[in-house]
Amino acid sequence: TKTRRIPFVVANWKINKLQSEIAEFLDNVNSKVPSQTVVETGIAAQDLFLADMVRATQDSPIHIVAENVHWEDAGAYTGETSPRALKDIGATYVLIGHFERRKFFNENDSTVNLKVMAALRNGLRPIIDVDEDMSKYAQFMDAEPSVAQVASALAGVSVDQIRNITIAYEPTWAIGSGEAATSEQAQKAAHLIRQTLAKLYSPVIAEQVRILYGGSVTPDNASALLQQPDIDGVLVGTAALDPVKFLELINIAK
Ligand code: PGA
Repeated sequence: TKTRRIPFVVANWKINKLQSEIAEFLDNVNSKVPSQTVVETGIAAQDLFLADMVRATQDSPIHIVAENVHWEDAGAYTGETSPRALKDIGATYVLIGHFERRKFFNENDSTVNLKVMAALRNGLRPIIDVDEDMSKYAQFMDAEPSVAQVASALAGVSVDQIRNITIAYEPTWAIGSGEAATSEQAQKAAHLIRQTLAKLYSPVIAEQVRILYGGSVTPDNASALLQQPDIDGVLVGTAALDPVKFLELINIAK
């Protein structure tokens, strides 16, 4: 039987939506999203829209999610967004270490860890992205997964803080490709991540941490993925640009 962790559906809009499109999307979905005791929902968007989105979702259970954050609270870091400012405007969660950040912006395990600590220090809840690159995929199927990324991302995260962490497993080859991992592959990875959490913390804590799957999730494949014992939610790019599909995914996760 599956341990009861509240399912979590997170949209990742990347840099795809404009102000008017965001307003229309939120108008459309706000009143249709269930209570966060049933399924938690979040939307990640570009920093410049987040404050508007917080206001637009004031009466809705949707959490607003940043796509990235800097590792210092304030100071001379031109072009960055501080975790303190994200907290100040009312963002709840922050994606950290998305594959696109690692690939195009040179993020690595050590910057991911710094950002995780900065988010926690400022009362933001990190959604830590771990991936598996193509070259390591064969090796991973022999059971050496993104476990090293999990361990290094969580270095220095206390037993109390781990309760605010969500891990998202996103195989790089599945992101934006239209080719999702099979539910068996995704479950295997999620299970290995949970075993890693058990080793780093304890089996009891490992059972409390939510693990999401991301990479070409659609309303067609979400149900099989979400039925897996170690998959507690989905992180959705392309499909979640469409309000109808976003709501469908939330209903499937219920
Ligand atoms: P995708 O993106 O759903 O378009 O594959 C997922 C992600 O990048 O988080």
